[in-house]
Amino acid sequence: AKGRGPNNHVLFEPEMQAKVSRRAKLEGELRGAIDKGSIGAFYQPLVDLRSGDVCGFEALARWKNEDGEFVPPNVFIPLAEEAGLITPLFQQLLRQACEAARSWPEGMGLSFNLSPVQMEDRMLPTRVIGILDEVGFPPERLELEITENALVSDPDLAAHIMDSLSSRGVQIALDDFGTGYSNLSQLARFRFDKIKIDKSFVAACGTDERQEKVIRAMLGLSRSLHAKTTVEGIEDHRQLAHFVSQGCDLGQGYLLGRPMPAEDVLMYLSDRRQV
Ligand code: C2E
Ligand code: CA
Ligand code: CA
Ligand code: CA
Repeated sequence: AKGRGPNNHVLFEPEMQAKVSRRAKLEGELRGAIDKGSIGAFYQPLVDLRSGDVCGFEALARWKNEDGEFVPPNVFIPLAEEAGLITPLFQQLLRQACEAARSWPEGMGLSFNLSPVQMEDRMLPTRVIGILDEVGFPPERLELEITENALVSDPDLAAHIMDSLSSRGVQIALDDFGTGYSNLSQLARFRFDKIKIDKSFVAACGTDERQEKVIRAMLGLSRSLHAKTTVEGIEDHRQLAHFVSQGCDLGQGYLLGRPMPAEDVLMYLSDRRQV
């Protein structure tokens, strides 16, 4: 074809170049947003499936860029990791979330996501405790969610970090259980207060008997390890009823409450109490 030289890939260069420069631009914008402190969080309710009470909220990072568009966390969190910006972003978001959560009813929990690279940071427990002390938020009300992938690269260090956070009273949850790269024998080394079943299992439940058996086994495993279970991604009443009947402890999903800005949390809680 016309224009095709001996090195086919040369033709793709402009496209590559465009991709690289889009990325560099986004990285620059992210750096700026972190400097300005303009990345915030939405809060999604975690509901006790026996009582129906809200027992906490998960903070989910939200970045509205200068064009007023939301950049999804699945895009900017990996970018922050690669650009070495995850620690400043984390500290800023955690401080902000703890400040917001201070005004919630007593005992209401705050769950917060850690990215896998943070489990390679020896200073993490000190950073977390420092922020809790500074804000005056009790460690027992904070839960840190980590994924299986966070435990793979340096399991000894990860165990050390988790133990030192646990010893200060911080709760540890295993997020997205069943979707990561770890194996069960590795997982047995770690102590979790909670295990979160990934939403991909929920989407499949009720349509496939084998999937339901896997879910039942995960709930059993979690129970025998004395961890509470949360199921995420509950979108309809059929899914809700299924997990209630299976004895799952907590639920999270659009049916129970969507992620909302901090200023809506108290209103949401009082509206719920009236129904
Ligand atoms: P995640 O920790 O598994 O969070 C749950 C995701 O599922 C959230 O997406 C939430 O909005 C979404 N979700 C909740 N209920 C439903 C539902 O009923 N149906 C469906 N389809 N989705 C539901 P979001 O907010 O886009 O966050 C995506 C991921 O980004 C999170 O997954 C987490 O891994 C990461 N992330 C978010 N905030 C942070 C953060 O502050 N730090 C780190 N390290 N990662 C974060
Ligand atoms: Ca999570
Ligand atoms: Ca999750
Ligand atoms: Ca996830």
